[in-house]
Amino acid sequence: MVKVLVIGGAGYIGSHVVKDLLEKGHQVVVFDNFSTGQEINLFNNAELIKGDILDKTALEMAMSQNIDAVIHMAAKKAVGESMINPGLYADNNITGSINILNAMVQFGVKHIVFSSSAAVYGMPQYLPVDEKHQRNPINFYGYTKMVIEDLLDWYSKLKNINYIALRYFNAVGYAADKSIKGKEKNPQNLLPIIIETATGSRESFQIFGKDYQTADGTCERDYIHVSDLADAHEKSILRLMKDDSSYCLNLGSGRTVSVQQMTDACEKVIGKKLKYQYAPRRFGDPDKLVSQADLAYQILGWKAKYTNIEDIIQTTWNMEL
Ligand code: UDP
Repeated sequence: MVKVLVIGGAGYIGSHVVKDLLEKGHQVVVFDNFSTGQEINLFNNAELIKGDILDKTALEMAMSQNIDAVIHMAAKKAVGESMINPGLYADNNITGSINILNAMVQFGVKHIVFSSSAAVYGMPQYLPVDEKHQRNPINFYGYTKMVIEDLLDWYSKLKNINYIALRYFNAVGYAADKSIKGKEKNPQNLLPIIIETATGSRESFQIFGKDYQTADGTCERDYIHVSDLADAHEKSILRLMKDDSSYCLNLGSGRTVSVQQMTDACEKVIGKKLKYQYAPRRFGDPDKLVSQADLAYQILGWKAKYTNIEDIIQTTWNMEL
């Protein structure tokens, strides 16, 4: 049993991580400012500290609770917004992470799992993308994740902290048992946007580009179920406690689904035709992005259990039923 401080534990991915840790018998302290996290995502058997990562005193209080390891998932993550308001992203993501690292040093907490992103890679130079692929983010959000990876590396060398940075590909789905109640608000991603169209909370959606160099002309992405992501965090904590090593690991399924395939699969799962239009390409979208996730298997013994996109969609659609 490990005592884990989950920063951002009331959020979409964070709440799934907390659920997984509790089910595996760990002790959890959730730290969240509820800017996007939701109270209905909390679990009775996890302690709660309401606080902001820009508040050093709150972080010190959290870190003083005999914490064995930290999972840091508190970040702003809207790519478009990061390009319009970089200061907000610099403060929240970068300064907030520095505060977390300094509080860890102060209280002798040695292990951290960090939510990084495939956004650190930028436009893929080859596929599938492995962890040795150059990091060259093309948006400010991805840049903040890259800077934090570098900070982790420096603190590991200078302050004897070890870390695992988990580079998520496209996170989707909800816990199959519906134990997570809070649907993401204002979702910006493809699957929740399609679901909103199905429920009628939006009129229609757009498929951005159908002239890509892919089989059906729409972009291909690597979708990974959030419960699989959660499992990788727990495995990362256990790995970090074994020795002093640190890693950056891709978390993906290793296979792609195109926007058209996602749309067609949603229509099948939901059982009705959805209204959508083909629209011009969205800036900065690569044709195809897919992970090489073998390193996560080697280091953590982890791989995605959800391999069928319809099963993944079903867990999302279940939230509406
Ligand atoms: N996409 C789309 N319509 C939307 C939202 C997204 O066609 O309303 C496409 C987008 O261009 C990309 C894929 O769906 O090819 C996944 O986009 P998302 O924003 O979910 O994740 P990203 O891959 O950008 O991190």
